[in-house]
Amino acid sequence: MPGSVALTFDDGPDPTWTPRVLDVLERAGARATFFVVAPLAERHPLLLRRAVEEGHEVSLHCTRHRRHDKMTAAEVFADAQEGKQTLRDLGHEAADWRAPWGVVAGATKDAADALGLRLVGWTADSEDWRGDGAGEMLACLAPGICPGGIVLMHDGVGPGALRDGCGGTVELLAPLISLCRSRGLEPVPLGELEGPLPDRNPRPVAGV
Ligand SMILES: [Zn+2]
Repeated sequence: MPGSVALTFDDGPDPTWTPRVLDVLERAGARATFFVVAPLAERHPLLLRRAVEEGHEVSLHCTRHRRHDKMTAAEVFADAQEGKQTLRDLGHEAADWRAPWGVVAGATKDAADALGLRLVGWTADSEDWRGDGAGEMLACLAPGICPGGIVLMHDGVGPGALRDGCGGTVELLAPLISLCRSRGLEPVPLGELEGPLPDRNPRPVAGV
């Protein structure tokens, strides 16, 4: 769809924060993509069912949240295969895959090809895992809000995060969506984003 941007969330689903993120998206009439941790998806299946019912996409983040450059190729493949199957068992056919910390090793690309997953990075990083205020995050994100842009956020507290919860992300969302729309960009799931997607990232994140 022309004039689109993708809002993406890693490290959920989380029983506290994912519903609040979904609430804001619903109020704004915006749709997004959730890159989920498979065991958390198993623990909170209703959260993902709600996400899909409200027009969002569910895709794969990981089974275990580990850096791929510290894993063997077999471990990377097994992690993705298990995660994809877990999501399939829950009724979600993952099309996209974002590796933990955005670290893409050779084995990541091989596993993605073998499993039919599209690797997805981001073009704008909220760095919300640091715990900055919503205004500060919005100012940092603003230059990266452009056609085909992909915004990285988190609806769960992953390993390395410097914050206790995702309240800042919840607070960021409504003004972020307004900013996108003020630039003629509608937030859509990745499957509807125009143009090629980056599979690598401007720089892997240090935190989550
Ligand atoms: Zn993560």
